[in-house]
Amino acid sequence: MSIKILHPKVSSQIAAGEVVERPSSVVKELVENAIDAGASNITVEADAGGIDRIRVIDNGSGILKNEILLAFERFATSKISMAEELETISTLGFRGEALPSIAAVSKTSLVTRTESDNGGTFVEFKGGTHIETRDVPAPSGTIVTVENLFHNLPARRKFLGSTSTESHQIQSIVSRYALAKPEIKINMSINGKLMISSSGSGSLQEAISEIYGSETAVQMLTIPPNSSEISISGMIGPGSLNRSNRNRINLFINGRWVSDRKLNYSIESAYHGFLKERRFPVAVINLQVPYEDVDVNAHPSKTEVRLKHEGQIFGALQKAVRETLISDSPIPHFGSDSIYNVQPHFQIEYTKKHPINETQESQISNQEFTKNTNTNRIQTLMPSKALPALRILGQVHSTYIVSEGPDGIYLVDQHAAHERILFEDIMTKSITDLINSQSLLEPITINLDYRQAEIAQLHQELIRNLGFDYQDFGDNTYILRAVPSALHKDDPDKMFTDFIDLMAEGGGFKTWREKAAYSMACHGAIRAGKIMTQREMTELIQLLESCKQPHTCPHGRPTIVQITRSLLEKEFGRT
Ligand code: ADP
Ligand code: MG
Repeated sequence: MSIKILHPKVSSQIAAGEVVERPSSVVKELVENAIDAGASNITVEADAGGIDRIRVIDNGSGILKNEILLAFERFATSKISMAEELETISTLGFRGEALPSIAAVSKTSLVTRTESDNGGTFVEFKGGTHIETRDVPAPSGTIVTVENLFHNLPARRKFLGSTSTESHQIQSIVSRYALAKPEIKINMSINGKLMISSSGSGSLQEAISEIYGSETAVQMLTIPPNSSEISISGMIGPGSLNRSNRNRINLFINGRWVSDRKLNYSIESAYHGFLKERRFPVAVINLQVPYEDVDVNAHPSKTEVRLKHEGQIFGALQKAVRETLISDSPIPHFGSDSIYNVQPHFQIEYTKKHPINETQESQISNQEFTKNTNTNRIQTLMPSKALPALRILGQVHSTYIVSEGPDGIYLVDQHAAHERILFEDIMTKSITDLINSQSLLEPITINLDYRQAEIAQLHQELIRNLGFDYQDFGDNTYILRAVPSALHKDDPDKMFTDFIDLMAEGGGFKTWREKAAYSMACHGAIRAGKIMTQREMTELIQLLESCKQPHTCPHGRPTIVQITRSLLEKEFGRT
């Protein structure tokens, strides 16, 4: 066959295929246009999964009478005019492809009026062909109606999911915009039924409540403002609020929803220790980065982006999420309708690789307090960071301290709590502060492998300050004379090498001081299984109270969980 330039009809359908993959892509493009037009109110309607009809109504700028037909030309856009502007795109659209692509594969009509025009204009296209233009009365703004999608592309139509699948996709796209733009009032109905209604109040928490429910919203943690060039804002759920898939990870770059595996991974990895494996968090995060550092023109659907300082952004994102989790984690509580439903989630499942057998207790479950799906009860959470005044009642399983507090029963994991105490204790000491050390009856010789020896050498001062007195004897042999008094002394050789191994592992910490503190805390903390006296328990709780982040151990697992009074009342049928 000889080479021919395709007929415009064919080429426009091919181009349309890239932009308009399915009904939800139409919704996405039209909603983005409404947002770009500065709308404060957007209504989306879809019938039969959007295949029969999609309508998007906005109160934005409208299109000037004499530009309406132009808007349906390929590569016609009001958003950029020069190639250089591609570098600094601040609008969601810019390719000028959506309206012509949508019109090419459906019957599309548009009613629009700008503030300055007296009346509105109606235009209609069928399979890309202009059918009619006429004056109509209209409020200012734009209404786009797309009917009979893919009527002229039976192959594409065949590949669509069921109407409920397509409706679901539409709903998830609109939800994302409601989360990205809490200042815009967004309503969406499917087959006439209102599915999404956001107030447009500007509050992200309110938007989250409208999309995911109030119970999720009250648990969300705010990412504190940061001052770097990459500004990260939004809200994330605590680890206790988790899902079996990534659907509730919403990441926006400069207000644009993006789907990026690596960025999602930096969020997920920040939850290390807070979430069980194969569970995913709830997050709504916007990254504001300089426009010239993002290339949004990587894909026709614009959901993939290329970032200039990728590594830096990944790091900043992970850090922001991690710090929010650690500093703000409220006391988790049994929140299910029935405590009997909760119990199975309390199995020991924390599977983090841990080189030390003696500290198996630190493998105690990373509890999963699954969300409540069928109640709208708003649960009040403890204000973050503060520990309530607790009256100790006793110990169960030689592992948990049971206490009464202002709102119910509080269980403290003695090992996790002590880890937190030891960790902060070391971190608040000055570098030269010596930690109590105890001489061994007889010095012992220790052989280290080359990695261990490297750490023992490089961080000698740090490790010595923690209470290990040792000396290099050459050939990776060391003489150990004293160990920290806080550590168990049964097998000093093993204790020392385990300490160094765990320090090398680092527990996700950055500085060597933190790594050493983490290792000390893991080793030195009271084990699960140890019976504690009332006095010891009181002392432990007092020390925990004085911690800066008393609610989690250094790995991020909870030190304390709560059974609220209201849950007790509910379980006993008092409400
Ligand atoms: P792009 O959004 O990439 O510019 P589109 O094909 O989506 O391309 O839209 C073409 C142009 O039509 C836009 O640049 C804008 O000027 C105008 N337009 C489209 N939808 C609207 C709307 N809802 N309100 C105001 N103007 C609109
Ligand atoms: Mg557009």
